[in-house]
Amino acid sequence: MELLKKTAVEIRKMLINKEVSAVELVEDTYKRVDAVEDKIGAFNSLTKESAIETAKKVDEKIKNNEELPTLAGIPLALKDNINLKGYRTTASSKILENFVSPFDATVSIKLKENLIPVIGKTNLDEFAMGSSNENSAFKKVHNPYDLNKVPGGSSGGSAASVAALESYLALGSDTGGSIRLPASFCGITGFKPTYGRVSRYGLIAFASSLDQIGPFGRCVEDVANLYYAISGNDKKDSTSLNLPVENPITTLKNDVKGLKIGVIKELLTDDVDEDVKNAVINAVKVYEKLGCEIKEVSLPLLKHSIGIYYIVATAEASSNLARFDGVKYGYRAKNAENLMDMYTRTRQEGFGDEVKRRIMLGTYALSSGYYDAYYKKAQQMRRLVKEDFDKVFKEVDVLVSPTCPNTAFEMGSRNDDPIKMYLTDVGTICANLIGSPAISIPAGLDRQGMPIGLHLITDCMKDNLLLQTAYNFERETDYNKQLANL
Ligand code: GLN
Repeated sequence: MELLKKTAVEIRKMLINKEVSAVELVEDTYKRVDAVEDKIGAFNSLTKESAIETAKKVDEKIKNNEELPTLAGIPLALKDNINLKGYRTTASSKILENFVSPFDATVSIKLKENLIPVIGKTNLDEFAMGSSNENSAFKKVHNPYDLNKVPGGSSGGSAASVAALESYLALGSDTGGSIRLPASFCGITGFKPTYGRVSRYGLIAFASSLDQIGPFGRCVEDVANLYYAISGNDKKDSTSLNLPVENPITTLKNDVKGLKIGVIKELLTDDVDEDVKNAVINAVKVYEKLGCEIKEVSLPLLKHSIGIYYIVATAEASSNLARFDGVKYGYRAKNAENLMDMYTRTRQEGFGDEVKRRIMLGTYALSSGYYDAYYKKAQQMRRLVKEDFDKVFKEVDVLVSPTCPNTAFEMGSRNDDPIKMYLTDVGTICANLIGSPAISIPAGLDRQGMPIGLHLITDCMKDNLLLQTAYNFERETDYNKQLANL
């Protein structure tokens, strides 16, 4: 477990110096998983065979003094809505409970090429719909800082596994904040790249115009390395960007003197918890000390983000989830009387309440007669929000806000009020609507000892500037070094 307190950058040095082997690293990680997993619930399944096989390849290369990819041998947890050939991919849904992937997602291929051992598939809100991970059909994930609190969602298993020292790195998916919110609640770093930077091929689709895969880690450098390992153009994803990806490490450690930072007025109101607000104000002071120019900026249309998102996301989800019909794959209801009965009962029995709620909302928004009033209007508003941001990005380079107005909440406390749950994402959703990269980094603890996340956004394609800005804060403050007392 002492090993697991280290970052991937530190472990890399130990591997090269032969102080530890990749197989030992994987075994040590599984020991930790055995010790704490009953309390955390981060994993839906473990993928031991493939993890050990990859680790052996790494050790072989080290033995032969061959060149090693940067993250080779570092154990990683993979969200269970990303396909990994030969293993179950469930999206934490009963409808896919026994589905074994016949193919690899593009990111899974990249992990293999980079010799990164995948140790298991992580729990999530069913089909990535949720903010607390309480919507998993299988079990809840517990926050490593306080087991009675949620880890955030939907990538709660991925974030909790890194925070509970059950892995060094993880991948999640982010449609409205599902990487950044759990990163913030669990006190780690989570990054959503520019839309199109990372291939979505093999990610079980929720809302295709918003979904993006991204990395979790315990420091910005680890996250930057993992982002670089999984990004790039992919012909199998028609929305993949056909642009070269520059290695973020080349600029990561440059200073941020003269950088213009905008503090989003609408996200720092009295609705924000006092401790969270103070942490963000302190963070702004850190940037000021680092030589940044600070400015308050206003995004008047931001308040509509949640409304726009819940029309666009549910509309796309209703269409994407039509494929789960009991015919092609996954669960099929028994003893159906006819085809229609089979479709209906399969979906009735296979989907959970939140997924059904979204399919109904989305189908309604897309139906003729309501399409213009809801879906079309929401897309038009999305455009206007983007224009709001375009204007602001002419004045400042990076936008700062809390990742969430509050820290992790008690399990069960928001379940009977979907709107309240939806509002958890008020700070993160805008980045998905406009396609921008955004990151959540640790910014201290509140008075109950729960982690606070600082949220940074830049204009599209400025992923490397965003990572550099985050790195500078981390280097100055070391909040990322705090660990859950588990
Ligand atoms: N919490 C948001 C939702 O429930 C975002 C989820 C996500 O990013 N996958 O839709």
